[in-house]
Amino acid sequence: VTDWTACPECGLPAEVADRPVLPSTGGAVEHARVCCADQHRFLMPTEQLAVSAAEVGLEAPPEEEP
Ligand SMILES: [Zn+2]
Repeated sequence: VTDWTACPECGLPAEVADRPVLPSTGGAVEHARVCCADQHRFLMPTEQLAVSAAEVGLEAPPEEEP
């Protein structure tokens, strides 16, 4: 099963290639290794993934205000 999310950089659909569990300051955290359609690669906590797969491509991702 391939999981999809949105690239944090360009917003294109991104494939979740791996979900390694890595140690962090708060304990072990599940990360997602993603590779987008424009070859951007990221490794980030799964909880920080931009959107769920169902939302990819349906509309522009919301702008995040700081
Ligand atoms: Zn990208």
